[in-house]
Amino acid sequence: MADAKIFEQSLYPYQRHPDQDAAAPVRHPVIVVGAGPVGLTTAIDLGLQGVPVVVLDDNDRVSTGSRAICFAKRPLEIFDRLGCGQVMVDKGVVWNTGRVFMGERQVYEFNLLPEGGHRRPAFINLQQYHLEQMLLDRLRELQAEGAPIQLRGKSRVSAIGQHDDHATVEIDTPEGSYDLEADWLIACDGAGSPTRKMLGLDFVGRVFEDNFLIADVTMQADFPTERWFWFDPPFNPGQSALLHKQPDGVWRIDLQLGWDIDKEVEKRPENVIPRIRAMLGEDVAFDLEWVSVYTFQCRRMERFRRNRVIFAGDSAHQVSPFGARGANSGIQDADNLCWKLKLVLEGSAPEALLDSYDAERVHGAEENILNSTRSTDFITPKSEISRIFRDAALHLSERHAFARPFVNSGRLSVPCTYDGSALNTSDAMPEAPARSRPGSPCPDAPLADGFLLDRLGGRFTILAVGVEGEAVGMADLLSVPATGEMAERYASGIYLIRPDQHIAARWPAFDADMIRAALSRATGNTP
Ligand SMILES: Cc1cc2nc3c(=O)[nH]c(=O)nc-3n(C[C@H](O)[C@H](O)[C@H](O)COP(=O)(O)OP(=O)(O)OC[C@H]3O[C@@H](n4cnc5c(N)ncnc54)[C@H](O)[C@@H]3O)c2cc1C
Repeated sequence: MADAKIFEQSLYPYQRHPDQDAAAPVRHPVIVVGAGPVGLTTAIDLGLQGVPVVVLDDNDRVSTGSRAICFAKRPLEIFDRLGCGQVMVDKGVVWNTGRVFMGERQVYEFNLLPEGGHRRPAFINLQQYHLEQMLLDRLRELQAEGAPIQLRGKSRVSAIGQHDDHATVEIDTPEGSYDLEADWLIACDGAGSPTRKMLGLDFVGRVFEDNFLIADVTMQADFPTERWFWFDPPFNPGQSALLHKQPDGVWRIDLQLGWDIDKEVEKRPENVIPRIRAMLGEDVAFDLEWVSVYTFQCRRMERFRRNRVIFAGDSAHQVSPFGARGANSGIQDADNLCWKLKLVLEGSAPEALLDSYDAERVHGAEENILNSTRSTDFITPKSEISRIFRDAALHLSERHAFARPFVNSGRLSVPCTYDGSALNTSDAMPEAPARSRPGSPCPDAPLADGFLLDRLGGRFTILAVGVEGEAVGMADLLSVPATGEMAERYASGIYLIRPDQHIAARWPAFDADMIRAALSRATGNTP
């Protein structure tokens, strides 16, 4: 079993708050509904920037069961900025390599991070309950340092009201209900989002008709720390299978079951154990930690901002687990939103800046849904002809590299580039590397004394690569030499970097007026 069974412990027990005895509802700048990975990330990010935030959760502990395990490079970089990336990487199982099998044969392998010079790997595997606990630890640490974050357990939001300049919430607690007001309410209350339902809003998208059995098992095994994906394996004929290593000697086994099954029957140990034995071999001893059967949706809300209520994470969008784009994209929602909210709250940016959250993260969700839907269509072909084409691509991929891009066992989470965002200034260096064009997340690179991303984020920065620069307005200056990986990933020039480490503009040389104009655009002050 997972070492400390943290999912059984009350980590943020209910405590009566003076707000419950106030004569009138108390107003807070930001209320976050939900203390899952996205709500906790949002609270930490806002708290670090000095924005007072109240987090309400109907529970008082981390999530249980088989949920996220694969956390990608970009969220790890975000967690580094928030001060808790290292503890996750230390505990997690680091991996970069994936293998694809057809039947019993390996058809090819891939490396998700073939180049060096990055602080973080392509992925770590870490149980969602460990990740949530590490976020809670970080939140507690910040509270102890005086960050204005409150976390209220056993506080279920049961009603929401929208007004021109605030939202209201009714909160049920073990000691009765009370009301609060928020300048901004962030709904991080998961796929079933009561906030979304209370506002009468819905999703657009597809529900996939298939079932997958997830078994998290403990065993001592010598499989390498890689992602293994099988099409049509002998132990699950006609279906797919996935194997991942997690910390604490736990392995994630994911077996496609087909649509027409009885979920309750499939979950019974007498049915699960023979399936796993067929996969692992008769000699491998294992224990079941969790078993669940899931189906999934690829869908999103039409808009993520509804006046004073903003949706982030699963409440706003959902994808299939192939590609690990769920929590990974929700954490990028928080990263995108928090600096904008801070600028709006302090009066440095107009409310319209928050519409760029909607535009940029809807774009991110669309990209995730597209990739996730394509993977799902490849893994579970919807017609006989689709299956024939799929199997042909798989067979060809064993010998011919050209066929490999057609094989889709899950396009794994990569950060979104905000091409076309209204916050970008048009590219003044179109010949420079595309990976550092406006809208891109900054590629990491080693510096003489650490990594580039450790020096960026949390504020606007003028990154001067091999040229002279100066601080301008709210943007600090960081000068680095144009050498090694830095020169490969960035051409010499001036880059305006947003607080979420995305590039807003780039020019071959320093020009304070151009930077001022770009800053004004990147903060929503110039339409
Ligand atoms: C089988 C499976 C595998 C997955 N694998 C991956 C993966 O490898 N990588 C990845 O990135 N993602 C993965 N995901 C997706 C990931 O689990 C979710 O995307 C993630 O949990 C979303 O986080 P969230 O904070 O938005 O919502 P949640 O984690 O659902 O948290 C919502 C919180 O809101 C609280 N809440 C709900 N209603 C109320 C209310 N009325 N009042 C107060 N609080 C409320 C809940 O108690 C909960 O704490 C997987 C999911 C599944 C099911």
